[in-house]
Amino acid sequence: MNTAICYCGLDKKFQDCCEPIIKGIQKAPTAEALMRSRYSAFATHAADYLVATTHVSQRKYHSKSDILNWAVSNQWKKLEVIHATENTVEFKAYYIDNQLINHIHHEFSNFIFENGDWYYVDGEFY
Ligand SMILES: [Zn+2]
Repeated sequence: MNTAICYCGLDKKFQDCCEPIIKGIQKAPTAEALMRSRYSAFATHAADYLVATTHVSQRKYHSKSDILNWAVSNQWKKLEVIHATENTVEFKAYYIDNQLINHIHHEFSNFIFENGDWYYVDGEFY
């Protein structure tokens, strides 16, 4: 991987892009930034962050161990943000599973801004 490009695809180093958000040093300023940081969290197996940024009403559907298994069993190749509004993001996440099969996860995600933080709520899959 080119170290000048973040996992999320932006032309910035991970340390200057998603990492400070994942570490809690910075807040994601937009739903899209949160979505990008969550993709980078899958790529770096930051399951605690993925749980923390899932809206509390939805956490029962996403166990930390399931998230971690899903994150580590795939190779996360590329993120493509197709369209973003204030509180939605449509994206494609390209990954290779543990059978070395290529997949594209195409999702239209909903986000909510609550008490100063963005959270992932849910998504429709294509
Ligand atoms: Zn990033």
